[in-house]
Parts: sequence; structure tokens; C-alpha cells
Amino acid sequence: MRILLTNDDGINAPGLAVLEEIAAELSDDVWICAPSEEQSGAGHSLTLTRPVRMRKHGEKRFSVTGTPTDSVAMGLKQVLGGNPDLILSGVNRGANLGDDITYSGTVSAAIEGALAGVRAIALSQVYSREGMGDDVPFDAARQWGARVIRPLLGAPLPKRTLVNVNFPPIAASEVKGIRVVRQGFHDYSRSSVVEGRDPRGYRYYWFGLEAIEHTLDHGTDLEAIDEGFVSVTPLQLDLTHHASLGTLAERFEG
Ligand code: MN
Repeated sequence: MRILLTNDDGINAPGLAVLEEIAAELSDDVWICAPSEEQSGAGHSLTLTRPVRMRKHGEKRFSVTGTPTDSVAMGLKQVLGGNPDLILSGVNRGANLGDDITYSGTVSAAIEGALAGVRAIALSQVYSREGMGDDVPFDAARQWGARVIRPLLGAPLPKRTLVNVNFPPIAASEVKGIRVVRQGFHDYSRSSVVEGRDPRGYRYYWFGLEAIEHTLDHGTDLEAIDEGFVSVTPLQLDLTHHASLGTLAERFEG
């Protein structure tokens, strides 16, 4: 089984090293193509206004001066010259739950895989306020990664679907199990704007990370993580709100 790995936190991200450990449990044909720098929040962006450079770090290890989507596209077209059997994106440093998904470089890299017709799984390690930045513990992801991926390999999923996995911010031994759940939603926007002054006195703005309030609807990814489970959510690329097709069409009749 040929596996392509990527990670929106960059080629040197600790979460990518964790994903390499997980992938090694599944196959010995593992390739890596990841952004050269962190690209969190890049969403499904594709670099179109400047060239992309690719660097070879090892026989099966490459970095790209672009987005997570660029990395998967380059991985498929330039590195592998065809589709692998599986694309794994992550393990992201931080949650990709509820409304996070459209911002997410991690999920978007998996979307790029799904668009190419490859089974694609995004993996994210949720962290608590105590362990942030360089201190995020990937213990739950490391211990539960292969256990959650294996049953997904042969699962019947239609085209243009992918799977979003999140690991709870607790020790692996405390994880209660795996739940297949729907996407939840955050009650409030995730970003606050922090204003500051740079060393030369110029004002800057930085999108902050507020504690987000949730209504933990039953059967959602947010609830599963809150209760100490690994969340598994099948996602589809069809964003159409089918129930509104009729009511909107009526607006244009007559
Ligand atoms: Mn990230």
C-alpha cells in the first residue's frame, strides 16, 4: 500500500513525525510531500501568483514552498506520478472540529486527495490550554492513529468524500474509544484580533485564539472530543444546501 503524507504545520512539524510513526504501522511504502513552512489556516488555497519550488530531503521526502494543497498536488503529479492508495494529512497541531474545517490546511490537503479520487484522511490532535505551541502532546494520536485508520481503509465511501479524525486532549490510556459523528458548529467566531506594536513602532494585528463557547449538540465531533473519544466524521465536498434549492428557485420564478 502506497501512502502519501502531508502536514499543514510544515515538513519539520512534530505532528508529521507522529504521522510517520503511524504510517509505518500500516505500510513500508510511505512518501512525504509537505509545505516547507507552517501553513495553518491556509484552507484550500492553491499558489497561482508565484512559482513553487520543490526540495528533496530524502528518497521519499519532499518539501514544497507553497500551501498544503500545493503539496498534495505536487506529491501526486511530480513526486509519485500517479495516485497512491491513501493520503494522510496531519497530525495537525490543534483541533479541526465543527466550523474549523473550511479554514483548515489539514482538512484541505485531504480534500485535494479526495478530488483526485484517493482515500484521504485528515488527522488532528486537539490540545488543552496547558499545552500549546511546541508543547502539544501527541500521545493520543500516536497510540490511536493506526487503530482508527485501519477500519477506514476498505470502508465504502462515495467519491468526493473524505474522513476527518480528531484526537482528544488527554492521555492515550484515558481515551474512551472511537465515535463516528457529524460535524458540529462553534457558537462564536473563533478569531479575536489582537492589536500590538512591532519593534519599530508600527501597529500590527494578529488573529488570536479565543476560548470558544460551544453548545455540545448530541452526536457531533465537538461532543465526542469533550467526552474523551476520538471523533471520526465523513465529509463531503458538495456544500449545496439541498433543502434550500426549492425555496430559492421560487424567488426567481414568474
Ligand atoms: Mn496546522
